[in-house]
Amino acid sequence: MSKRLPTSTAGSLPKPSWLAEPETLWSPWKLNDEALIEGKQDALRVSLQEQQQAGIDIVSDGEQTRQHFVTTFIEHLSGVDFEKRKTVRIRNRYDASVPTVVGAVSRHKPVFVEDAKFLRRQTDKPIKWALPGPMTMIDTLYDDHYKSREKLAWEFAKALNQEAKELEAAGVDIIQFDEPAFNVFFDEVNDWGIAALERAIEGLKCETAVHICYGYGIKANTDWKKTLGSEWRQYEEVFPRLQKSNINIVSLECQNSHVPIELIELLRGKKVMLGAIDVATNTIETPEEVAATLRKALQFVDADKLYPCTNCGMAPLSRSVARGKLSALSAGAEIVRKEL
Ligand SMILES: [Zn+2]
Repeated sequence: MSKRLPTSTAGSLPKPSWLAEPETLWSPWKLNDEALIEGKQDALRVSLQEQQQAGIDIVSDGEQTRQHFVTTFIEHLSGVDFEKRKTVRIRNRYDASVPTVVGAVSRHKPVFVEDAKFLRRQTDKPIKWALPGPMTMIDTLYDDHYKSREKLAWEFAKALNQEAKELEAAGVDIIQFDEPAFNVFFDEVNDWGIAALERAIEGLKCETAVHICYGYGIKANTDWKKTLGSEWRQYEEVFPRLQKSNINIVSLECQNSHVPIELIELLRGKKVMLGAIDVATNTIETPEEVAATLRKALQFVDADKLYPCTNCGMAPLSRSVARGKLSALSAGAEIVRKEL
């Protein structure tokens, strides 16, 4: 990026109410068949237009074509039975009914490649595409085949790598892997989680990012955060090994979070997508608040490596709040850009 402090979002943005129930995760579609395909594309156009109008520099599809950031990808793989469901504890936090791995997992067809080509045709701006990370994928399933989290993650990493290569060929500039599980399973992250992530990005020439957050602003997450104490030091466990990895960008949560900001120093040399927008509140940040967060981060990130961003996805927020937050992010970045 030639522009200083290029802005982007962590991923999902609200869907229009004619496409899916608003302000809800796993919201069922309101359209079917051909109308659904067209509706998703229209929603992608609207989401892109809203990002561009707000002055966001690195744009995305707003995840308009997927129901959920993990399950939609898994639905396209073989080896997973969506009828056979089990209740598991997700990220040690909440119970969910999830599909079962019943055989070897593999990717026989592209998942998001057509959507990415569609987005590419709509804009000349750099585009970022989010995929679930291998560790977060295994944490959203019941495994009745491999019986090893590491082995299953490795197989998912291979499937993700196939998808990522096709996304790159479709013109995606940054491929991001969402790994909220990296904030929970520290030993596994360091044992094999980051290695699996590196398998997923093997051979890519485009930029790569990993997004590690404290989750959407849903109740299970806000309750969990209350148990974390006054200082959230989870990043301290994984940043040192990530700093040595091949991944180019680390996307992290900062606004209104209890993460000690100096932990970012552990990533020195990497690009940092810095969450300067809180997704767990409807209060819209002022540009000055965003600027203050960015200024603090600049003590620990070189200016040419700082990418202002949101803490996490904004799918559960109302559209007007999300639009307000996008504009605040742009305006706040512009204040700091002028100071550099
Ligand atoms: Zn997130």
